[in-house]
Amino acid sequence: MASVSLRQVHKTYGSGAQSHHALRGVSLDLADGEFVALLGPSGSGKTTLLRTIAGLEGIDGGEIQIGSDVVSSALPSARHHVPPEGRQVSVVFQSHALWPHMTVHDNIAFPLRQGASSASEVGRRVLAALAAVELGDLAQRFPGQLSGGQRQRVALARAMVGAPRVLLFDEPLASLDTELRRDMMRQIARARRSDMPMVYVTHNQEEALALSDRIAVLAHGQIVQLDSPAMLCSEPASAMVAAFVGGGNVIDAKVLRALDPHKVLLSLRGYEFIARCRTLPRTADVQVCISPSAVSLTTQAQALEVRCTFVFFQGSGHLVETDLPRCNGSYFSCVLPAGLQPRQDDLLRLQVHDAWVIPAAS
Ligand code: ADP
Ligand code: MG
Repeated sequence: MASVSLRQVHKTYGSGAQSHHALRGVSLDLADGEFVALLGPSGSGKTTLLRTIAGLEGIDGGEIQIGSDVVSSALPSARHHVPPEGRQVSVVFQSHALWPHMTVHDNIAFPLRQGASSASEVGRRVLAALAAVELGDLAQRFPGQLSGGQRQRVALARAMVGAPRVLLFDEPLASLDTELRRDMMRQIARARRSDMPMVYVTHNQEEALALSDRIAVLAHGQIVQLDSPAMLCSEPASAMVAAFVGGGNVIDAKVLRALDPHKVLLSLRGYEFIARCRTLPRTADVQVCISPSAVSLTTQAQALEVRCTFVFFQGSGHLVETDLPRCNGSYFSCVLPAGLQPRQDDLLRLQVHDAWVIPAAS
């Protein structure tokens, strides 16, 4: 049985002309111990979805179940709402919201002191939580005496200390710099427990890809794809997902012929290349996703010719922008090794090693 289950969840804010339908029939099952990221642009409904699981928002359609308990139901026959404190769910927010007048130890102990634990039990669990985030020696400091990264670790320890049934994160790393983000990503990965699912809201694809078992991509209050990170990158279900996860090269191409049930020969600027597809396209025109790293320079006669319009040196290589238009208005870009010295206006002759036909909208 799934340990968190959402069935056809709807949420509308406000009413009448001011109303906003923020969740439009979201269904999602999380297994015990599973880590699922909710990834999507700003306003897509990620925070709303998280808050409905936590019980911080009610729902107007569907049901939410944690373990065997229905915690939210909008079904006329079973309408009810278990408040946040009755759900055994913890949330880590972007702003760590520690109490400034309490020590690290007391901040972490606070949720336990609301319960029935004995003083020695509280002490033991706080020490274990501090050790888990490697902050054992800072227990007597106040939040104002900690760095941003240390404060976020305290927030993580406080969320874990009560042994919640579900751990939720809402953009917990958004205010940290790259180095601290990686450090917290390691801490969060270590906090995984086989009996506790985690839901992690982010608009940062690096975090989602690095941490998750599965990623739910949200757009306009709906899950547009739910898949493993590898599947999401190699088989995006729409141009939006490809743009969000895969580096964004979605290009118009012509179908020449089918090669097998899951492979087609395509043509782009006269260059012929093979693309994978879920089902054979029914139209002659398709959109194809080509990862920026799925191309290389070639000396063969058959090549995709593009003109270099801008070069971003990135240490390990160059990100090259070209004059080949993408479907969304920007331009095809690719990664070339650092040893090459592409320059603006150079004609590049490329070979495409891998491509994926975006499935037609159903
Ligand atoms: P995300 O976290 O993906 O950025 P949110 O879940 O915060 O998205 O918001 C989804 C949509 O719902 C947005 O259009 C937002 O403006 C709207 N919204 C969020 N909270 C409220 C609220 N309390 N009242 C009215 N509209 C809201
Ligand atoms: Mg949000």
